Amino acid sequence: MTLVERFFKYVSFDTQSDESTQVTPSTQKQMVFAEYLKIELEAMGLEEISLDENGYLFATLPSNIDKKVPTIGFIAHLDTSPDMSGKDVNPRIVEKYDGKDIVLCKEENIVLSPAQFPELLDHKGEDLVVTDGKTLLGADDKAGIAEIMTAIAYMQAHPEIKHGKIRIGFNPDEEIGEGAHKFDVEKFGCDWAYTMDGGEVGELEFENFNAASAKITFKGRNVHPGYAKNKMINSMRIANQFISMLPRLEAPEHTEGYEGFYHLIGVNGDVEQTLVSCIIRDHDRAKFEKRKVEVEGMVRRINSEHGEGTAILEMKDQYYNMREKIEPVMHVVDTAFAAMKAVGVEPKVRAIRGGTDGAQLSFKGLPCPNIFAGGLNFHGRFEFVPVQSMEKATKVIVKIAELVALK
Ligand SMILES: [Zn+2]
Repeated sequence: MTLVERFFKYVSFDTQSDESTQVTPSTQKQMVFAEYLKIELEAMGLEEISLDENGYLFATLPSNIDKKVPTIGFIAHLDTSPDMSGKDVNPRIVEKYDGKDIVLCKEENIVLSPAQFPELLDHKGEDLVVTDGKTLLGADDKAGIAEIMTAIAYMQAHPEIKHGKIRIGFNPDEEIGEGAHKFDVEKFGCDWAYTMDGGEVGELEFENFNAASAKITFKGRNVHPGYAKNKMINSMRIANQFISMLPRLEAPEHTEGYEGFYHLIGVNGDVEQTLVSCIIRDHDRAKFEKRKVEVEGMVRRINSEHGEGTAILEMKDQYYNMREKIEPVMHVVDTAFAAMKAVGVEPKVRAIRGGTDGAQLSFKGLPCPNIFAGGLNFHGRFEFVPVQSMEKATKVIVKIAELVALK
């Protein structure tokens, strides 16, 4: 199977994950895809193939050299985003893209246009895989899976390429933030790994946000409004007072790059009780901790004004910046950087304004930067992936394996 054939086959599986089910994998259809991949890995003659009850599929391409070199892994996720259907994906290739609008669906007039998505123009002349406008594409992260499988097949067909032991890991539920939770790092047994789950060609990421969530419950007291003087306490007004304390410009809509923020994600209330949900994000750990202290201070101010117990804060850390785990083993990033250069890809190192499975894996003892898989406009009907980007990612995987064997 070619890279494109693999990709088309993989996106034919509906593997949408679901936040609400509280089981792993969150949807049984991910297991169906994992079982299919397991058969493919067996047919390729890989070793140490295992698929556990949570949908984690591991396999080994054995070393073809005598000396002992580090064991490395390549990881991609099985699921697609809950944001949009991934059922009956009907991809097609726009060959030698001419830079004009691409009509995805004539009847509903759904058009992928460089007017809204100027990044299309970076791929003029390339072959773009697009949707029919009715579903997402699933390049996130089936492009990553297709690239890993193709790279492995390539190395098998080219024994002159010398490499150490390579592990493959496919996991469920990345899109609902549960991809790393049940990942058995010890069983995976790698010195380090890479997730093939980034976007544009060249992306190389080893920094992400530190993240916490804060839920604040504001208690009020409801009384008939005609007789409420000095009796009623309106929890919505107190919640509003709290919301006004959040620095207005330190919000997602006013920040970029390494700027952190407080993000108000939900308000739900009546006179009696109002629940406010926020998330706190910062790449810098010290600034992150300071932001949490600030929120505690705001809640204290509310309570000192309105009485102890008016506002109840529940704050918890969600994940941390993997940089602190990657920095001591920076050669892991350097190797990916060198591999990209060697195959003619200009590395674009940037900080993720979010989290990744790799961050959680890094904290579980498996340093794991993220590399581009080539897709763009993830999680919606305008998702597309240039074939040439997938080919480059495949080459990067092979080159990393080669470079590690030279260590
Ligand atoms: Zn992804």
